Amino acid sequence: MERLDRFMARANAAYYATRDPYADFTTAPEISQVFGELLGLWAAVVWESLGQPDPVLLAEAGPGRGTLMADALRAIQQGAAGFGAALRLHLVETSPRLRAEQARRLPVASWHDAIESLPAGPLLLIANEFIDALPVRQFVRRGANWTERFVADGGVVEQPSSALTLPSPGGKGFPPPLPSGEGRGEGLVVERCEPALAIARHLGARLAATGGAALFLDYGPDQSTFGESLQALRHGRPADPLTEPGSADLTAHVDFGAVAAAARAVGSAVYGPVPQGLFLARLGLFQRTDRLARGQPPQRAAALIDAARRLAEPHHMGRLFKALAVCHPALAVPPGFEP
Ligand code: SAH
Repeated sequence: MERLDRFMARANAAYYATRDPYADFTTAPEISQVFGELLGLWAAVVWESLGQPDPVLLAEAGPGRGTLMADALRAIQQGAAGFGAALRLHLVETSPRLRAEQARRLPVASWHDAIESLPAGPLLLIANEFIDALPVRQFVRRGANWTERFVADGGVVEQPSSALTLPSPGGKGFPPPLPSGEGRGEGLVVERCEPALAIARHLGARLAATGGAALFLDYGPDQSTFGESLQALRHGRPADPLTEPGSADLTAHVDFGAVAAAARAVGSAVYGPVPQGLFLARLGLFQRTDRLARGQPPQRAAALIDAARRLAEPHHMGRLFKALAVCHPALAVPPGFEP
């Protein structure tokens, strides 16, 4: 019997170490080069508002193939050469396989196992679809108590748990308030991603102390909600997450409300979550795509425009995906998060 989050951590470490995740799913930077370009220019604008520190750390957590950062650096060299000269590139990646792929595209980077081991100094951090891969615990409401889910022989087992308490009456946040009345939420499931909360606390304190900003793009609800979102993709198709660990990509929705609260509690300013479609449109997704499409053969131009739509349209990735920024409290509102 293994606690669900430990099972998920083990399964994903094996998965990312041995498989090509892009055979199972695609991500925004793989859909359009404009995604990484816009995030690079986002970092350049935030660097300006930090007072152009030199050197400055530009970091990415979970860089996958390195596509996002390669696109970002190209846009930075073209449009923000001062930032390009000041930045030192740091990547947080645990998979040796993906590190090797990143090194081919980003030979000047340094690698780290965890966000907590990045060197000190002003920091700009980007993470796309990183938090959703971090392990979650699941708790189930039973009577007046909670149980926790464990994995045994490919199925779930519930054990009594005292790791979760209800918020104070009327209090918001995590776990969300139980419905009133008959049954009081019997059987409701709630997920808690402890590594995400630890990262939010670490970055919230670090950014408030030594300056900078972190940008997370991922999918999930604005506020903590009940429900289980753990899912698996094997060979590109939905699969049972609890069997054959390491053969499927396991993800869970990001609880943006809980991440934001954890970073705020230690002194950082938090902006968002803003739906990805709105965020990218504000950064100029369609203008930049149109400029790129101009002068291309018609088929290529149509593909570029189609890719931008996939990132931004509500029924594609525009609404479920969201952007959240954690910033030094004195920093100007970062681009895309204007009220
Ligand atoms: N950002 C990329 C990849 C997303 S997949 C993209 O948008 O395409 C998740 C990435 O996070 C992979 O690079 C994976 O190896 C990495 N990863 C997963 N768990 C991690 C952990 N605990 N620590 C560091 N990296 C991790």
